[in-house]
Amino acid sequence: MKALQWKIHVVDDPRYREHRAPARHPERPERLLAVGEALAEFAPQICPVEARGATDEEILRVHGRDHLRRIAEVVGQAPAHLDPDTFVSAESFDVARLAAGAVIDLARLVARGEARTGFAAVRPPGHHAEADRAMGFCLFNNVAIAARALQAEDGVGKILILDWDVHHGNGTQHFFEADPSVLYVSTHQFPYYPGTGDFGEAGRDRGEGTTVNVPLPAGCGDAEYVGSFQRIVVPAVRAFEPEMILVSCGFDAHRDDPMASMEVSGEGFTAMTRIVGSLADELCGGRLAFVLEGGYSASGLREGTRAVLQTLLEDAPLPPAPIDAPAGSLLRAVVDRVAAVHRQRIPEIGAA
Ligand SMILES: [Zn+2]
Repeated sequence: MKALQWKIHVVDDPRYREHRAPARHPERPERLLAVGEALAEFAPQICPVEARGATDEEILRVHGRDHLRRIAEVVGQAPAHLDPDTFVSAESFDVARLAAGAVIDLARLVARGEARTGFAAVRPPGHHAEADRAMGFCLFNNVAIAARALQAEDGVGKILILDWDVHHGNGTQHFFEADPSVLYVSTHQFPYYPGTGDFGEAGRDRGEGTTVNVPLPAGCGDAEYVGSFQRIVVPAVRAFEPEMILVSCGFDAHRDDPMASMEVSGEGFTAMTRIVGSLADELCGGRLAFVLEGGYSASGLREGTRAVLQTLLEDAPLPPAPIDAPAGSLLRAVVDRVAAVHRQRIPEIGAA
């Protein structure tokens, strides 16, 4: 198959910069220039994927018709706000469709084995968007829309959505919290915006246990993130056995980020990507796609994107050595609290 000569398929379209931000808003088009600088370093190894707009039918699998109508209405009065954080410019409706549509197409190429891995550098981000409202800079929930498209049209059953954006993906959690076919795992600063994502939020009804939250206090860095991946994410994902992995990939846990208070470095993102990459190889034939969410410093976006791309280009990513979690450490405290919620279903949680 010709496409497989490429190791990574990338969505990176200048139209994503046309979702214009009010002055001094952190979710601004320049974010994608920083991502683009990192992508340019890998240009010879990248196969570009063209962006196309998601259809109403695709969006309506997760959002209500009123949500579509409201965005169209507010965009008609642009520049305007949907909530105090979430703005639209005249182009935003079309750009948001392009984000959701491109994420579907990229995920589909990977799911069908026509691409090995993918990275979507899209705006606006998606993981805060709820069924019936825009929120936290997000208009449509790109990852949720893609997951539902894969299930509806590509025969994909079980999907992991791993959300390492520094904020909790309230929208994504809510879409899938009663659905055992999607495992939602999130590492995030807590307490912090949007306020959801506490330890005990573990899914409901038939989806009980397929939501795993790893709330981390401000100030966590590589050790806490990588250690949480090893002791919580890895056993949870192995127990679930996904057929495809989507990463809600924010770079706002980076130490340079002006919005959050985490200390993750480029090396940290490399280690996290290696863990995810080796899980994908082990469990789902390497089917893995990254979708940009937040990230508000140019250096964090550049270093994070570089870390992900570099790792995806490795032949067999070697997972990092186990991080110690001695009694009394912050990592141990977090791991123990997550284990207390999930140990019945996933007894391996907590071990390195
Ligand atoms: Zn974020």
